[in-house]
Amino acid sequence: MESKQQKILALCEEVKECKKCSLYKFAKNPVAGGGNVEAELMFVGEAPGEKEDFQGVPFVGAAGKFLDQMLESIDLRREDIYITNVVKHRPPGNRDPKPEEVAACWPYLARQIEIIQPKLIVCLGRHSLSRFLPSVGPISAVHGRAFKKNGQAYMALYHPAVGLYNGGMRETLFNDFKKIRIALKKINKKGE
Ligand code: URA
Repeated sequence: MESKQQKILALCEEVKECKKCSLYKFAKNPVAGGGNVEAELMFVGEAPGEKEDFQGVPFVGAAGKFLDQMLESIDLRREDIYITNVVKHRPPGNRDPKPEEVAACWPYLARQIEIIQPKLIVCLGRHSLSRFLPSVGPISAVHGRAFKKNGQAYMALYHPAVGLYNGGMRETLFNDFKKIRIALKKINKKGE
């Protein structure tokens, strides 16, 4: 039987060849995802930025560095989580991904979830939140809250970039991160 790692590698190969929308034309590299395929936590951001596009790795720019600090604050490292985005190629000039691009890329994200089977999906920012939980309300109202839909647990969090352009939000982000630990503990307790 194929391992999770083999399945994820096969998916990454497919993403390299992807022409389902036009984003591949402008991007230097695809950014399929990265981290631990055995993780309980899957983080889903928006789209690769300039640094990610250059390296082919998710969250390696300034927002990624801040994400690492928040992970560390709850005693987690990149090796403990799997991380990806709703779209796998960088939108030109870092514009928002278009609904048709998010829709075209969805089968990859759906398969990543199916393969990894995370206990908790952490939605980083409004694009990720609206892909999974379109009717829960704006991120400003639901950040730090856990949800369950079709048997899958989710947590809504502000995108780490928010803490970069609005220093006053950093404390909120760090506080919300603590809730990841609490939600995961609850999930694991129920599964005992
Ligand atoms: N922002 C995202 O949403 N994803 C990345 O990979 C980098 C920055």
